[in-house]
Amino acid sequence: THFGFKDVALDDKQTLVNDVFHSVASRYDLMNDLMSGGLHRAWKNVMITTLNPPRSDAPFALLDVAGGTGDISFRAAKAAGAGFNATVCDINSDMLSVGRERAIARHLDHQVSFIEGNAEALPFPDKSYDAYTIAFGIRNVPRIDLALKEAHRVLKPGSRFLCLEFSTVDVPGLAKIYDLFSFNVIPQIGRAVTGDAESYQYLVESIRKFPKPTVFAEMIRDAGFARVSYQSLSGGIVALHSGWRL
Ligand code: SAM
Repeated sequence: THFGFKDVALDDKQTLVNDVFHSVASRYDLMNDLMSGGLHRAWKNVMITTLNPPRSDAPFALLDVAGGTGDISFRAAKAAGAGFNATVCDINSDMLSVGRERAIARHLDHQVSFIEGNAEALPFPDKSYDAYTIAFGIRNVPRIDLALKEAHRVLKPGSRFLCLEFSTVDVPGLAKIYDLFSFNVIPQIGRAVTGDAESYQYLVESIRKFPKPTVFAEMIRDAGFARVSYQSLSGGIVALHSGWRL
């Protein structure tokens, strides 16, 4: 075959990730609450506060990649003014369908739209967005460097990239508890709610393999972003990375 081993492995990875989110789409938010003990709400709020969308009628276009059922976009829309709009882009049509229904139920369908697409090859023109967010999504993307380059490409000059992702716990006592929780409790919750413990085992492992925050910051710089910084949340369980397209 003309595919190298690496390419095949990456395709397998995306298939595995797709299976997880197909199986969980309708119960996705419940899973988040169970697995993070509700903390994902606080982490997402930090992301929205940092994004700080304008409260005025000034136009502001957010691209929310791996946006799933739209949680980040809905939160941003609530914090923003009438000029705000968000595009939720996700590779999984089931997640997007749940999000679309939710947008209608919340009367936000005029401000939040849903488009299927891959973070590695975004179906959007250059320099078209005022901000790019990706929350608990980049870890699932096989070629992170491509996703970061695409983020840079679609952002307007002067706009911001924000990434919320599981990170490396840096508090010794917490690290032990966290290991126990993630390797035992999370797959069990996954089994109880979706009947599928293996996929959640995979998700836990993908958190372990994700680069340390300083390394990830360097990758963001390599994609062309400036003034790259990050903030650790909850003892490093999660990190919020920021970069600017100049
Ligand atoms: N951002 C949402 C949130 O915080 O609630 C959803 C996060 S969910 C953990 C991860 C999402 O990444 C899933 O909806 C999955 O379909 C999506 N995803 C995985 N690989 C992707 C890719 N290559 N391109 C775009 N989305 C992807």
